[in-house]
Amino acid sequence: MENDLSSVVDSLPGLVWTAQPDGQVDFLNRHWSVYTGLSIDEALGSGWQLAIHPGDRPGLLERWRSMLAAGEAASMEARLRHLDGEYRWFQFRARPLAEASGHIVKWCGTGTDIDDLRRSAMGQPGGNDDHRSVADIIPAMIAFLTPAGEFENANRHVLEYLGATLEQLKGRRASDAIHPDDLPSVIAASERAVATGRSEPYDIDHRIRRADGVYRWFHGRVMPLMDLQGRVVRWYIVNIDIEDRKRAETLLAGEKQLLEMVARRQSMSEILKALCRLVENAVTDCYCSVVLVDPDYTHLEAGAAPSLPPGLTNPMIDRPVHVDTGPCAMAIFLNEQVIASDIALDTRWDAWRPMAMAHGVRACWATPIASATGPVLGAFAVYYGEPRTPTPQELGLIDQLTHIASIAISRAQGDDALRRSEARKAAILDAALDCIITIDHEGCVTEFNPAAERAFGYRRDDIVGKQLADTIIPPSLREKHRQGFARYLATGETKLIGRRVEMTAMHVEGSEFPVELAISRILLEGPPSFTCYLRNITERKQSEERLRRSEALLAEAQHLSSTGSFFCPRPGEFTWSTELYRIFEFEQQMPITFELIMSRYHREDIPLLNDVIDQVNRGVIDFDYEHRIVMPDQSVKYVRVVAHGNPSKDGHFEYVGAVQDVTERRRSEAALAKARSELAHVARTTSLGVLTAAIAHEVNQPLSGIITNASTCLRMLAAEPPNIDGARETARRTIRDGNRASDVIRRLHALFSKKDTAIGPLDLNSAAREVIALLMSDLQRSRVILRAELFTDLPLVVGDRVQIQQVILNLVRNASDAMSDVDDRPRQLSIKTERDEDDHVRLTVQDAGVGFSPQDADRLFDAFYTTKDSGMGIGLSVSRSIIERHQGRLWALPNDGPGATVSFSIPCRPTNMKGTPELGAMRIVSGEEKAMSNQ
Ligand code: ADP
Repeated sequence: MENDLSSVVDSLPGLVWTAQPDGQVDFLNRHWSVYTGLSIDEALGSGWQLAIHPGDRPGLLERWRSMLAAGEAASMEARLRHLDGEYRWFQFRARPLAEASGHIVKWCGTGTDIDDLRRSAMGQPGGNDDHRSVADIIPAMIAFLTPAGEFENANRHVLEYLGATLEQLKGRRASDAIHPDDLPSVIAASERAVATGRSEPYDIDHRIRRADGVYRWFHGRVMPLMDLQGRVVRWYIVNIDIEDRKRAETLLAGEKQLLEMVARRQSMSEILKALCRLVENAVTDCYCSVVLVDPDYTHLEAGAAPSLPPGLTNPMIDRPVHVDTGPCAMAIFLNEQVIASDIALDTRWDAWRPMAMAHGVRACWATPIASATGPVLGAFAVYYGEPRTPTPQELGLIDQLTHIASIAISRAQGDDALRRSEARKAAILDAALDCIITIDHEGCVTEFNPAAERAFGYRRDDIVGKQLADTIIPPSLREKHRQGFARYLATGETKLIGRRVEMTAMHVEGSEFPVELAISRILLEGPPSFTCYLRNITERKQSEERLRRSEALLAEAQHLSSTGSFFCPRPGEFTWSTELYRIFEFEQQMPITFELIMSRYHREDIPLLNDVIDQVNRGVIDFDYEHRIVMPDQSVKYVRVVAHGNPSKDGHFEYVGAVQDVTERRRSEAALAKARSELAHVARTTSLGVLTAAIAHEVNQPLSGIITNASTCLRMLAAEPPNIDGARETARRTIRDGNRASDVIRRLHALFSKKDTAIGPLDLNSAAREVIALLMSDLQRSRVILRAELFTDLPLVVGDRVQIQQVILNLVRNASDAMSDVDDRPRQLSIKTERDEDDHVRLTVQDAGVGFSPQDADRLFDAFYTTKDSGMGIGLSVSRSIIERHQGRLWALPNDGPGATVSFSIPCRPTNMKGTPELGAMRIVSGEEKAMSNQ
């Protein structure tokens, strides 16, 4: 079996060997002995070392020893002598074989000829042309240097990069092309490598100057080849261009820095400036700017342009976002990249182009900066002094940076919005009249506004962080609060959220007061938190109680006085008191409509209602009238309505009124009036009878005496001869009787004229008011609507109050009488006082009655002219004589429409009059006297 295996191993074309754990070789395959020309026996143990290049032997052995010590698979390189004496580079690989316990029992190794590979990789002099072209294909600069660091050989890439032929290069020091800043570290690394005395490669990054003077970064792998004395025989160097990687790293670091600035909430302008500078550093010879757009997308706003002349960027601020404005405005407007590769040849942007050219700009690439949610925030622009088109790498870079700009701007705007909303929130909290308290999911106070501080006596800083249940919730409610809160957190169920509830809260000093509470959940992720709105409703409660009491009182008073009240905020809308419902016998709370009210109106009083409506429409604000209502059982009630209108906010009038059930009073008044008129009738007939009897008695005697005497006289004169003396005597008696009759008349005259007259200053308005008061119930009974327009500041007149009142009474009675048959229109009566010409005062009574024809106008004042069945026809004639005795005038005119107007005008009191005047010869004649004097 073993023989089989060793024959297989022997037949392998490579070198195979095994060694004891101590490193003593105990097997070599046949190919090994054939290659080296050493017999197996010679080579076993340590004999194999004879075939190793003496220069490589110490290094190899040291490495072999350290491999044995480490007990791990590894490889080592060394030159092996061919039996013809030529050395070739071999790579030796060895692997330990271990038992399950980990104890190494044997090492197995192979040897592979790598000489060609090494030569080709390094283009070693002496390597053939194939090696050279292989070295040229490798995308790296490969060079061999003399121990002094001068070029000995180099591949095509080195020659091209340094812009020299191999001949020109030979003898030049490689370090001359290294960036002065990097040279010290390069030298230090080479010195460290030499100091080890071992041919081991090391790595170093450094910049190398290109033929055109531009430095690029390279990663160098350097290996000094040492001889046995540890002297450098040759330097092998492989340099790989890492400029792009370095740049990417710089950019990455820059981006990281920018994002950190964003995260640190540095100002947007600082971030945008840093962004521009980053690009300017990463890309040679370019300048950058960021321009922003206002929230309405109408005009450009300043962003950042740290390296551009203000003369180029400032004129763009506030310019409209439009394709014609410039590349940035165009990029924003179209939301696409705008590349102006050569501005000199571009025909766009008439205004911007010459300005850009004047500042030496020849190329401009503008890219819109879009936010994550879509809208364009601004544009990022790169400017060059030479015509240029972006490379794919540059486009990639721009893309990357506009993305960062977008993050920075969005963040800054978001911060701004947040700051504004925070400021608004703070202002709301501060200004709110209600207490606003926020609590977290554990019931701890997180916010406590000034209104809450005032209401509860806590200072915000003292209560924030404390349990609501330990502060403003009174002890009696705390357990309930805790349970409710825990239940909500467990189940999400509560009756409180979204509703207004009344509860009791506690002041820091322990007093409790009623509050109204509304709670809303703060909609954020994570455990729930809440906002509580609380309002101290102590005063409201008190005024509610007061209101309730006063309402009860009012209702009671209304009931006791049979007075209901109503409120009519606008036509057709009514609020009625309970008592009013009761008076009208409507069901409580029934909606009151105009039709409903009408349904109770007495048919005959409907014109009165229509008139009231008419007056409302004309803006009359005070009402006082009576009407009848008919109940479902056909009984009739009298109600008195007093209402007053106030202008409402919407330009209407709102009326507040009282309605009193005056049925009882009206009934007793009617009974009284009846009794009074009966009495008056009795009195009138009585006094007339007495008067008539007296007159008859007094006048009859002399009259019959006269008649008797006259007949006696006639008889005496007719006698033959006539009895002249007798006739004379009887004629004398006739005269005596005539004088007697005349005396009777004079005596009666004197009797009637013996009225006490009280002459003095007189206020016509108050005289009129008294007459109105006297007649009010008569007028209402006659359904007359009376309107008094009494001029304020009316001057006083001089006269007899009773006489003047008698005139007014006459005129008002006549007016009311004139309307007694009027049913097709309101029985409207107006009494008006005003100043008249020539220091006079005028009183006018106007009615809507039957009126009179113009030709009758003067006859009215004739004594005994009457058109009434029961009229005497002396009222107006007496009135005229009274007014004339007051040096005034009384006259009547028919109205343009129905009815008549009767007026009188009397002089004002002379201003120099003092005390009670004597009216001198003025004599006031009573109605009866006038009647008599007319007879
Ligand atoms: P009487 O009232 O007793 O008839 P008056 O002298 O007061 O006596 O009135 C005389 C007449 O004048 C009345 O009968 C009536 O025909 C007429 N008259 C008075 N006032 C008015 C009036 N306001 N409208 C129409 N006619 C009137």
